[in-house]
Parts: sequence; C-alpha cells; structure tokens
Amino acid sequence: MAILLDGKAVSSAVREEVAKETAVLTESFRQPCLAVILVGDDPASQVYVRNKHKACEACGIRSLQYHLPKETTQKELLALVQTLNGDPTVDGILCQLPLPEGLDEKEVILSIDPGKDVDSFHPVNTGRILSGDYGFLPCTPAGIMELLHRYEIPVRGKHCVVIGRSNIVGKPMAMLLLNESGTVTICHSKTKDLSSFTRSADILVAAVGKPDFVTADMVKDGATVIDVGINRMADGKLKGDVDFETVEKKAAFLTPVPGGVGPMTIAMLLKNTITAAKRHREADQ
Ligand code: NAP
Repeated sequence: MAILLDGKAVSSAVREEVAKETAVLTESFRQPCLAVILVGDDPASQVYVRNKHKACEACGIRSLQYHLPKETTQKELLALVQTLNGDPTVDGILCQLPLPEGLDEKEVILSIDPGKDVDSFHPVNTGRILSGDYGFLPCTPAGIMELLHRYEIPVRGKHCVVIGRSNIVGKPMAMLLLNESGTVTICHSKTKDLSSFTRSADILVAAVGKPDFVTADMVKDGATVIDVGINRMADGKLKGDVDFETVEKKAAFLTPVPGGVGPMTIAMLLKNTITAAKRHREADQ
C-alpha cells in the first residue's frame, strides 16, 4: 500500500514557518501584504479567494481583497492593478482566474509587476524558471516539489512523467523536475500510447482534469504518483485524476485528493508573498 503524501500536514508546517517569517518582517520592516482581486461571482473562485484570505490572516499576512462586479471593464481592472503595483505597502498581487468573459487574462497577467506576481504567471517569472532562477515559483508545481523534498523522494536521475502541459501546472512542473536533474517526459492529449510512457515513470504527475484518468495498469510498481486533478463530481465530492483505490495498491507514494497537492498550493502562495516582502525590505535598505 502506498504511503500517502500528507499535503495538509506539510502545508501546516510551511504555514508555521511563514508565520514566523511574517512576525520577523512585521517587526523589522512592515506587515507583509497580499492583494487579491476577484472579478465576478464564480462560486469556485469565491471559495479559493476566501481560503487565501483566511490563510493570510492565520499567519499574520495583511490581506487586501478587491471584489469587483462582473461588468468591470478591462480598463478598470488594469487601473486597479496599476494602483496596487505602485503601492509600496503591497508585496503580492493576485488576480483570481478565470476572469469573466470579455476580459483579457493575458493582458492582466502582463500588467502585474513581476516583482509582485506571487502566482508567478508573468512571462518574466516563467522565463526565469527556464534558467533555474528560483525567485517566485508557480504555486502548484512548487507545492509538489516541497512535498517531494519533505518526504525525501529523490528526483535526480529518475524518470519523471508529467501528464498535462498547461502554463499553470504541466509546463512549469516539468521544468522544476528537470532543474532537479529528473529525466522528464511531458505527455498531453496528442501523445500516442500514453501508457508506454507512464508505465516507466518513477515519478508520475497527473494534471489532466479528468477523474480517475490514471489507472493502476498505467503505473509502475513502486512509483511516486502525484495527483494534481481537482474534479467536482455530481454528488459534490472532489475526485483526483488518479484512480485512488487501485493505484494506492501499486504506488509507493501517492497524494490523496483532497488533502494532497491542494493544500500545498496556498502554502506556496504565502511563501511567495514572504519572498516578495523580503525583496521589498532589501530594496528599502
Ligand atoms: P488544463 O489547462 O485543462 O490542462 C490539461 C492538460 O491535460 C492539457 O495539457 C491536455 O492536453 C492534457 N490532457 C487532456 N486530455 C488528455 C488525455 N486524454 N491524455 C493526455 N493528456 C491529456 O488543466 P490545468 O490547469 O493544468 O489543471 C489540471 C488539473 O489540475 C485540473 O483538474 C485542475 O482543476 C487541477 N489543478 C489543481 C490545482 C491544485 O492546487 N491542486 C491547481 C491547478 C490546477 P492538451 O494540451 O493537448 O490539450
């Protein structure tokens, strides 16, 4: 039976470290601050934003929330981002995606000061990852690396297979594994004979968005299987991309859904906010 990678426990350990760093920064500089922008009424986004707010408060980070109506224009949204870019008391800016139809996400991401881009979606920050510059890391892949590190699962020389090539998860995940000397294969919807790749994976990351997509026959004995998927089922329950019951019997390590990768994502957002605040303190000195 697989050992479950406990994202809740690791996330709370990271949050405790963040709380300590926050206290030091508040004492020696000022309270670190994260500004979160939500446009519209998407229920899932509202939950995510609320959770981010609670997480900030719990570790002492100042949390600013901007809830704009879905009728907000691109110009109004960009103006708010500019104001926050210029506010010296704001360390991190995050615009919750997806934006309502009619708003240009790319332009909004580009408008965020890369030094405050705690989601690490700005091309300047994604580009830095290519050269191994670990300033801000995208929260979900960074959270997965943190889990691997804390459970002392080696990456070097291992065959790492990532299913999914999104800008938010798949691509940066592959780069982080490569930067730690994994031998990385990226698979996607056009990959032929997917199982032939996944079956040779020492570390298999599923970021597909399809419930129970990875079945036991696709997994090598003793592999580490990371389930990034969050799929809301008709009964309201969450399911991952990995068929937990069968894969649990074959993998050596497995992340559950919920309670695996999910909690790590917010913890990494808090960590990025602290990184931004530290940089602002340095720039101030
Ligand atoms: P996405 O942008 O929809 O990307 C999905 C990827 O899966 C695409 O690259 C797609 O390939 C690939 N794919 C789809 N069908 C496939 C198939 N049959 N065989 C192989 N590859 C296939 O999704 P995402 O934003 O990366 O998110 C993936 C999942 O992770 C979602 O369930 C999302 O909710 C979850 N997520 C979780 C967290 C967290 O904190 N735990 C954070 C972010 C996302 P193509 O590129 O060829 O279309």
